[in-house]
Amino acid sequence: MQPELRSKLPHVGTTIFTEISQLALDCQAINLGQGFPDFDGPDLLRERLCHYVQQGFNQYAPLAGIPKLREQIASKVKRLYGYNACPDTEVTVVPGATEAIYCAITACVGSGDEVIVFDPAYDCYEPTVALCGGKTIHIPLQPPKFGIDWQRVKDAVSPRTRMIILNSPHNPTGALLSAEDMQTLREVVKDTNILLLSDEVYEHLVYDGQQHESLLRYPDLMQRAFVVSSFGKTYHVTGWKTGYCVAPSLLTTELRKVHQYVTFVGITPIQWALADFMEACPQHCDELPAFYQKKRDIFLDAMASSRFDMIPTPGTYFQLAEYSAISDKTDREMVQWLTREQGVAAIPISVFYQQAPDMRYVRFCFAKSEATLVEAAKLLCQL
Ligand code: PMP
Ligand code: GLN
Repeated sequence: MQPELRSKLPHVGTTIFTEISQLALDCQAINLGQGFPDFDGPDLLRERLCHYVQQGFNQYAPLAGIPKLREQIASKVKRLYGYNACPDTEVTVVPGATEAIYCAITACVGSGDEVIVFDPAYDCYEPTVALCGGKTIHIPLQPPKFGIDWQRVKDAVSPRTRMIILNSPHNPTGALLSAEDMQTLREVVKDTNILLLSDEVYEHLVYDGQQHESLLRYPDLMQRAFVVSSFGKTYHVTGWKTGYCVAPSLLTTELRKVHQYVTFVGITPIQWALADFMEACPQHCDELPAFYQKKRDIFLDAMASSRFDMIPTPGTYFQLAEYSAISDKTDREMVQWLTREQGVAAIPISVFYQQAPDMRYVRFCFAKSEATLVEAAKLLCQL
């Protein structure tokens, strides 16, 4: 007899990133869809990984990550944000920020709990909340700036609110939280049991001299926060799937309880390579804004004569493009058409909304070589 299958995620399909990357491959389109660089991470970092694999660093790492990497992370967050994280009790290395997000939500959200997210919201938040029996409360960000309407947050907070998920720099819009946002967040969570999950995987990709408002700058907010980052974005190695979470020890203890039964530990030689590289090149993070701002500006310059409307993105390696002057297709249709007929893949935005407003945006990833960006722009300028 065929067993009855009761899907725990009946409304979830394959992620848009996977779908579009496959389509780009099938159509041999330039892939400005899924966010990943088309260039490699630093030579030294890759050399260190080969070294550790060759030297036999191939067995389980400690549950929380190797001490040297946790120390490097602690010294980075101290240097950049002034936060004193104890490497032993407050820093956890995980196989990807996605896992840290899964563990933080699973550790804290239970049946009937509510979790506030801001739409367009990165795709892994809601399914994880759903697996925990929680309910996601969606607050839309309004184009073109995609800032938070805090009155809507205040109205949405209830005794069931367990967590607010923040994401700055924001994927897919590039929007940044400001110091005023943080001040208002303080007022919202004061005297509540609300926890914060701050997805800061693009922490170093902030442009035009702006400052990343990490939660790690706010010790009072950190008492209730998980801050998540990804080495994949920072070191151009998304396929290494390694990230970390900084959280006060009470929260870290709970996160690790889940982590030890999800993957148990991160990959050993990768952790050693990252630790060596962070020690040898702490300036790498400081150079990233200029590195990616240059790519953003090359792309924007190459697109100057196109009919896409583009406000320079303040953060991330994503650039939104408004296309109503070109087509009245929906963004899903537009992306299919761009990929199949025009040879450039992009990501639609409406898929990250519970209820998308009437708008015409696609997202382009500019973590690409200059040649790729110019070639893609040439095609897009013909539309
Ligand atoms: N959060 C956001 C906003 C992202 O864009 C990504 C990137 N893919 C992740 C989390 C996950 O990062 P990782 O690949 O380290 O799991
Ligand atoms: N975060 C990447 C993006 O936004 C994709 C990662 C994934 O495919 N899950 O494009």
